[in-house]
Amino acid sequence: MKRAILFDRDGTLIEDNPPNNDVSAVALMPSAAGAIALAREWECRIGVISNQPAIAVESFDMAGFREVNTLIQQRIGSIDAWFICPHAENADCECRKPRPGLVHSAIRRFDVSPAHVALVGDIGADIEAAARAGVLGILVPNAKTRESEVRRAPIVASDLVSAVRRALEFI
Ligand SMILES: [Mg+2]
Ligand SMILES: [Zn+2]
Repeated sequence: MKRAILFDRDGTLIEDNPPNNDVSAVALMPSAAGAIALAREWECRIGVISNQPAIAVESFDMAGFREVNTLIQQRIGSIDAWFICPHAENADCECRKPRPGLVHSAIRRFDVSPAHVALVGDIGADIEAAARAGVLGILVPNAKTRESEVRRAPIVASDLVSAVRRALEFI
């Protein structure tokens, strides 16, 4: 049985310190490496699903963005695929969360059934994208997560390792 666990990047794998493309400012979530290792141990495909609207701005530091993604993998373990929405917030694209386009892309790339996929994120847009794509949404709240988002999430976990454990029970 093929399974996949998808993670939001900013506010989930790393602390959300906008603009999040400066390697020296990256702070990994303490449970990120453990979560990736656990998902790997259970032979899940691992993807990152991230809105990066600043890419649509000409001044965006693409090199810095890639460096951050490389650093994340060096520190927490390898990611099988990155799914990024590079469009502006008002672009009305199909991929920007809460729309499900990136999750659909991951399902196709990993060739998995949506029933065997979980998306772990820190805000309501992650959970909504998961629901619209028919995959399990798991919220790991941080200081910026709204209470209404916590109430609406199907599963709430206190850290990323717990989130992966919960995912493995259901997918
Ligand atoms: Mg986030
Ligand atoms: Zn997009």
